[in-house]
Amino acid sequence: MKRRTAFNLLALLPVSGMGFLARAHEADVQRIEIDEDEWFDRLSYLQYSILVMGEAEESGSSPLLEEERAGVYRCIGCDLELFRSEWKYDSGTGWPSFWDAIPGHLDELPSGFGLFNPVEYRCARCGGHHGYLLSDGPQPTGKRYCNNGAVLVFKPDQA
Ligand SMILES: [Zn+2]
Repeated sequence: MKRRTAFNLLALLPVSGMGFLARAHEADVQRIEIDEDEWFDRLSYLQYSILVMGEAEESGSSPLLEEERAGVYRCIGCDLELFRSEWKYDSGTGWPSFWDAIPGHLDELPSGFGLFNPVEYRCARCGGHHGYLLSDGPQPTGKRYCNNGAVLVFKPDQA
């Protein structure tokens, strides 16, 4: 119950007032509010546990690890485009990994713990949790967006 409350409070804060957000929204991303009941209806238990509760799927469990087609990865909560297939790579962690993200479509929240100081990131539109950003990725960015595959929807460029 406490976690739910914390999520709701976070979702209700106006983005411009959130000083701890590392990135500002781009103008084309309008924040939407989705209440708990609607999330519960829309999502599977696994998707809900990740997107709303901030938990992680089991390593190696995502079919998207094998996805190699050209296309875009979208948020399962609101369909916002988050990653291009060109940025996907095999990090060896068992989670879909990307070395870049579509600018302004993810909000970063420094979590401030751990040796590698992972930064939690959330969808800029629906506020859903997707994963953690680390700094051990490949060039040219050196970033690793370690994402839960269960909350991504892959849309190939040519269906
Ligand atoms: Zn979303």
